[in-house]
Amino acid sequence: MIGIHRIVVGPLRTNSYIVYDAGNLLGIVIDPGGDAERILEAIRGLGIEIGAIYATHAHFDHVLAVDRLREELSCKFLIHSGDERLLKRVPESVRKHLGYNVPRVADPDAYVEEGQLVDVGDYELRVLHTPGHTPGGISLVGEGVAFTGDTLFAGSVGRTDLEGGDAVALYRSILRLLSLPDHWEVRPGHGKRTTIGLERAQNPFLRSIP
Ligand SMILES: [Zn+2]
Ligand SMILES: [Zn+2]
Repeated sequence: MIGIHRIVVGPLRTNSYIVYDAGNLLGIVIDPGGDAERILEAIRGLGIEIGAIYATHAHFDHVLAVDRLREELSCKFLIHSGDERLLKRVPESVRKHLGYNVPRVADPDAYVEEGQLVDVGDYELRVLHTPGHTPGGISLVGEGVAFTGDTLFAGSVGRTDLEGGDAVALYRSILRLLSLPDHWEVRPGHGKRTTIGLERAQNPFLRSIP
């Protein structure tokens, strides 16, 4: 079965996930947004071999530990090309929001696209392009779980007032996510987990649509 280990990192309390095949201990990292050494320690503790790092989008709080992990784990880093510009602007964005300097995050090794399959050992997650919060936002879905980044949260949805935000695109992305089966778990970029069914029934964002 698929294993999920969550580590809450950085000043914005971002959920970083180590997702792995509990049988062969191969896995991926989603959204290493900070606290690289804690993430590495967790990977070592679980004994997982990491094949790749994915960012659900390129806001700094989801990518700040990428370079350290990539160096240590010798693995690829992938995002959707729609967030290429945001990734380049990480230092500027950190200066603006947190008031300190960080180096540039290195360019991704490859880009993911809608429908692409992501190997997690013997399991597969599928890439859904879910723009709105950012142009290149993705969700990784499969095996009864959806990693939704900052698109869908328990009881709320992502902001669209930041650079590249698009409220209409976000609405479409939310509807796509909510067409997944009710019992599927939602693992968002911040805050607690939920399920597709609960969000379809209770998420206030859906009630705000005329
Ligand atoms: Zn974000
Ligand atoms: Zn975030």
